[in-house]
Amino acid sequence: MRKYYIAGNWKMHKTVSESVTLAKSLVSELGSCGERVMIAPAFTALAAVAEVVKGTSIILGAQNMGPDLQGAHTGEISPLMLKDIGVKAVILGHSERRHSYGESDALINKKVLLALAQALEPILCVGETLEEREGGKLESVVGTQLREGLKGVAATVLDKVTIAYEPVWAIGTGKTATPEDADAVHAYIRTVLAGLYSEAAAKSMCIQYGGSVKAENAAELMAKPNIDGALVGGAALKVETFGPIAQFRS
Ligand code: PEP
Repeated sequence: MRKYYIAGNWKMHKTVSESVTLAKSLVSELGSCGERVMIAPAFTALAAVAEVVKGTSIILGAQNMGPDLQGAHTGEISPLMLKDIGVKAVILGHSERRHSYGESDALINKKVLLALAQALEPILCVGETLEEREGGKLESVVGTQLREGLKGVAATVLDKVTIAYEPVWAIGTGKTATPEDADAVHAYIRTVLAGLYSEAAAKSMCIQYGGSVKAENAAELMAKPNIDGALVGGAALKVETFGPIAQFRS
């Protein structure tokens, strides 16, 4: 049976103790959840949350990482440091990194390659702004982000990569792309992937949707053939709202 990948991005929220409390609640709520569930707390809480999720089915993710292994890079976090504390996945190219911190496709690509080389599973985020969508640039923007973000990624490691389609105008705004619109973009993403790799690779790749996902719309989104999971922001901050998304089938 198809397994969905539901990831929670906690962004710049929660102290260490608040993160531990939420992680414990999620472990008890989602212990027998049939989906792949990932949580991405802030860097400061990763080590403590790692202890909570150790030996459970919940995957520990980071929200970002630096593009280098080590050295004089003030303020950065290395994939080696993430691995060292039990992180398995990393969100890269989130629209907040692209738009608030000026991350380029080239930088994101460097991080994707480094994450894979260090056996961390990247979630590569792509998505258009409202202006780009209304200007008819959706496909060129998303296509470029995919082609540039995946440059040099070998077909043999593609199963370790997840794509998250997150229309920027739907993130944290309460506006969700309709399931039909989201599915159409996911289908386009598969077309780009087929051109870069193969039809088979494009078909088997996991593509999450992100942008105001909540319990009320999760099942409808997941019912679409090209949507394989969700990257969740605001609703990931409480067990009452994240639990039902991860358990959308029950
Ligand atoms: C996100 O930050 O990736 C996100 C999708 O946020 P939200 O669910 O709050 O829209």
